[in-house]
Amino acid sequence: ARQFTRPLNDLANQWNTLLSAIAGAERVFEVLDEDVETKDEGTAVTLDHVAGAVSFSNVSFSYEAGGATLEEINFEAKPGEMIALVGPTGAGKTTLIQLLSRFYEPSGGKITIDGRELASIRRESLRSNMAFVLQDSFLFEGTIRENIRYGRLNATDSEVEAAAKLANAHSFIVRFKEGYDKRLSADGSGISQGQKQLLAIARAILADPSILVLDEATSSIDTITEIKIQEGLQRLMKGRTSFVIAHRLNTIRKADRILVLKDGRLLEQGSHEELLKREGFYSSLYKGQLKGESMGLGT
Ligand code: ADP
Repeated sequence: ARQFTRPLNDLANQWNTLLSAIAGAERVFEVLDEDVETKDEGTAVTLDHVAGAVSFSNVSFSYEAGGATLEEINFEAKPGEMIALVGPTGAGKTTLIQLLSRFYEPSGGKITIDGRELASIRRESLRSNMAFVLQDSFLFEGTIRENIRYGRLNATDSEVEAAAKLANAHSFIVRFKEGYDKRLSADGSGISQGQKQLLAIARAILADPSILVLDEATSSIDTITEIKIQEGLQRLMKGRTSFVIAHRLNTIRKADRILVLKDGRLLEQGSHEELLKREGFYSSLYKGQLKGESMGLGT
C-alpha cells in the first residue's frame, strides 16, 4: 500500500502548498495576479456553484512516449455520487485522480466538470473546489486549530469547532489539556493514525469542496475510531461527488458506481450488484475475497 499511496500524498502536498500560496498570500497574489493568470488559458473561467458533475470521455494518458498508462477511459459521475476506484496496483487509479486534479493533461480525450472542459477552468478555481482525505494526511507543525483551519484560512474558531464536531474529532481534541491549542509536529507524533484522519476530515468539511478524493485507510485502526471515521466521512461525502480509492468491500458496496481498472483500462463499471451479475473481473475478485484470498480490491 505504501508504494501506491506515495504519489497521491505527493499530490496532496503540492495541492496544500498551492492552496496556502493562494489563500495565505492574498496580497502577494493580487500583485502577481496577471502573471498567475497567464499560466491558464486566456479564456479560462472561474467556476462558481460547482455541482460536481464529472465526465471522462475517451481519456488516454501516458507518462512517457510509448506505453499508455490509461486508455480510452469513459465514465460519468453525477453530482453527489460516490465513485469507487478499484483494481490491482499499477492499474491506473492514482493516475486517473492526477488527471482529474489537472496535475497532468490527458494525451487524448476530454475531462469535464459541470460540462466545462478541465483545461478551460482556472487552476485556482478547480483547486478551491476539491479536497483530499488520504491515508496519511498532511499535518504541519502548529496547533490542532491551525491544522484544521488550513481547509479554509478565513474560518472563525467556531467554524473550526463546528467542522471538528461534524468530523467526530471534537471529543478527542478536548481531551487534550490544551484542547484546540495542542501543538502537533509535522509527522503527527502524539496523535494516532485514526485521529489524524479525523482531523483531515474536519479540514475537508471546512473546505466545503464539491469534489472529494478519498484514499481509504488500509492500516488497522481500532474499531471505535473506525466507526467515528466512517460516520465523519459519511457526513463529509453527503452532497459531494467523491472519488474513493477503496480497499474495503463495505465501502465499495456502498458506491453508486464502481470503476474497475486493470492495466490502464476501464474493464467494467456499475454498482456492486450490476457487476456481480456480469460475472467478469470484479465478480472474480469478489469471490476471491470471499474465499479469503488477498487479491487487491483496490490496492
Ligand atoms: P494505481 O494507483 O492503480 O496503483 P498508478 O496510477 O499509480 O496505479 O500507476 C499506473 C501505471 O503508471 C503503473 O504502471 C505505474 O508504474 C506508472 N506510473 C505511475 N506514476 C508514474 C510516473 N510518475 N512516471 C512514469 N510512470 C508512472
